[in-house]
Amino acid sequence: MAGEPQADCLFCKIVTGEVPADVVRDTATTLAFRDINPQAPTHVLVIPKVHHPDAASLAAAEPGVAADVLREAGEVAKVEGIDGSGYRIILNTGSGAGQTVFHAHAHVLGGRGFNWPPG
Ligand code: C5P
Repeated sequence: MAGEPQADCLFCKIVTGEVPADVVRDTATTLAFRDINPQAPTHVLVIPKVHHPDAASLAAAEPGVAADVLREAGEVAKVEGIDGSGYRIILNTGSGAGQTVFHAHAHVLGGRGFNWPPG
């Protein structure tokens, strides 16, 4: 059922502690941890603790939690010291856009320059 933990979901296992992660921030509804394959000097993932396959599904089902994810992305940028220079919040949605883990997550990237349009 939507929102319920999924036995085969890597990020659900990070929420329960079954899979370790380098946690940056932990709130009642979200978890922020460092990406294991960083694409920038700062690369943190912010996930909802509830399981939804992507950001749009999360926003449709639990808009308050979707807002929590975005707020936490901003808090991560502040504590990581990348808010002054600018940073990216990326929500890959669908395999064609590069999504590989189907549990909603926001990438927070900073500490380097970025191109537009993105690759
Ligand atoms: O947007 P996408 O689904 O591709 O992002 C998934 C991210 O999860 C990747 O950047 C990958 O490096 C990261 N990851 C992680 N820890 C894991 C497995 C994947 O940080 N144990």
